[in-house]
Amino acid sequence: MFNVEIKESMRAKNINLRILNNHTIQLVIPKNLRNKEVIINKILKERKDFIKKHLQKFEKKEKLKKYLPDKLEVNGKTIQGNKLKIWAKEKIIKNTRDLAQKLNFDFNFIYIRNQKTRWGSCSSRKNLSFNYKIALLPDELFEYIILHELMHLKHPHHQKDFWADLNFICADVKEKRKQLHQYSTR
Ligand SMILES: [Zn+2]
Repeated sequence: MFNVEIKESMRAKNINLRILNNHTIQLVIPKNLRNKEVIINKILKERKDFIKKHLQKFEKKEKLKKYLPDKLEVNGKTIQGNKLKIWAKEKIIKNTRDLAQKLNFDFNFIYIRNQKTRWGSCSSRKNLSFNYKIALLPDELFEYIILHELMHLKHPHHQKDFWADLNFICADVKEKRKQLHQYSTR
């Protein structure tokens, strides 16, 4: 099973298929494409083997990643399950608020979700979402993710100026991204 993300693009002339992760594929289609549903279904059928092969490749890669612990020692007590999530939520909210205040970023809400494919995201409504597991990452990676999402409040994309400004408020961005790739978001 996999999700299909459809992205309509003004610039796309053809239909482009990309594998985003082990259970998401993306189809970039020209805007105002006629018979959209029919064409999409046809492509998914035609490229079934290709999709299957690549999803499996992603799945294999994912299994080689480091998994974050599902329990933690806090003040001499082991916490797990819901307690761990509450602890993580408090840590994320506190640090996000502090960093936003220090750097003058303005957001609406913070959502802590059990996101399985990403560490965080930032919506056009200025809401931040985080995978609760970020609280279990090494501190410098934890902070990097928060800074990354805060910077999306200013730049809602990953273009040059986004990275330039992020490098300005965060050290060793490149190295931190590399380290982050070694961890599983699940
Ligand atoms: Zn981003």
